[in-house]
Formats: sequence, C-alpha cells, structure tokens
Amino acid sequence: MKEQIGVMLSSSEVENRISEMAAAIDKAYEGKTIHLIGILKGSVFFMCELAKRMKSPVTMDFMSVSSYGDGTKSSGIVKLNKDLDESIEGKDVIIVEDILDSGRTLSYLVKLLGERKPASLEVVTLLDKPDRRVIPVDLYMTGFEIPDRFVVGYGLDCAQKYRNLPYIGVIEQ
Ligand code: 5GP
Ligand code: MG
Ligand code: MG
Repeated sequence: MKEQIGVMLSSSEVENRISEMAAAIDKAYEGKTIHLIGILKGSVFFMCELAKRMKSPVTMDFMSVSSYGDGTKSSGIVKLNKDLDESIEGKDVIIVEDILDSGRTLSYLVKLLGERKPASLEVVTLLDKPDRRVIPVDLYMTGFEIPDRFVVGYGLDCAQKYRNLPYIGVIEQ
C-alpha cells in the first residue's frame, strides 16, 4: 500500500519561519562569526535554508549521531558516528538540529561540545515535540512546536525516505 502524506506545515510556512529565525539570530549575534554545526542528516535542509538567509559571517561543520534506528521508535542510546572536522574552541557555536523529541540526542551533544570550550553554545531546531521530552534541553530558538506525531520531510526521514519533501508531512496509514 502506498503511504499517503498529509501536510502539517507547508513549504511557505516553514520558509517564512526560517527567515524570521535567521533575522533574529543575526540581530543577537551582531559582529560575530557564527559557527553552525549541523547534525546529519536530518538538519541539512533546515541548515541550508537558515544559513542562506543569514547575513552574519557563517562557518559550518557537521557531525553525525544516531538515536533512532530505521523505524519510528527511539533506541534510547546515542552513538557518535562522525565527529566534527574542526575544533570549536573559542567559537560562537550554534547546533542546528531538525527536531527535539526526547532530548537524548541534544543533551548528549550539548554536553559533548560544551566540554570543548566554545565561546558560546546554543541550540536551534526547526521543530520541537515538547510532549515527548525525557531529558530537558535549553533551546535557544525553535521553528515550530508540534504535537506528538511522527513527521517527515524537510530533511526528516522515515527509513531514509521522504527527506526531500519540501514541507513537513505526516504519514497517514
Ligand atoms: P531525541 O533524541 O530528541 O529523542 O530525537 C532526536 C532525533 O530523533 C531527531 O534528530 C530525529 O532524527 C529523530 N526524530 C524524532 N522525532 C522524529 C519525527 O517525528 N520524525 C522523524 N523523521 N524523526 C524524528
Ligand atoms: Mg536528527
Ligand atoms: Mg531519522
């Protein structure tokens, strides 16, 4: 059976919100170079759209962790698959992530990167599912708070599919 995808947030809703976020970050970081760290692979689309709209000087790096398997349930364990290429010491770092859910991934990353002496460290996510939080995480900014539904698109996958949908969708079976 072919899966039907419903629209939770349209492309224009997502993109308008990303423009607002970029402007707010620029304002708060005026005069600084911002080191964006994207968490592969889910954050890639959001990170590009955010960075394209920012006027501040930006540098970028990526890391890869996994907490989910191929399904829709968290394994509860965070594994570091790919570390950063460059040191973050003395840099104004923003971790860019697709979604904050249980908080396991981001609490792990904040602790890990916090130990590497960045000048500042903040977390920005496109989406936040507050109902599912197990570990608290301080978010600097989020695009949208969403209900407890499994979403795809704009970088978010289901078994590696649907990342390229240009909107945030929900799978309707
Ligand atoms: P957490 O560690 O906060 O539970 O989960 C973070 C990771 O789980 C996210 O970076 C994302 O990869 C995945 N995740 C959480 N909720 C969803 C969702 O609704 N859809 C998709 N596709 N991935 C999700
Ligand atoms: Mg992710
Ligand atoms: Mg995934």
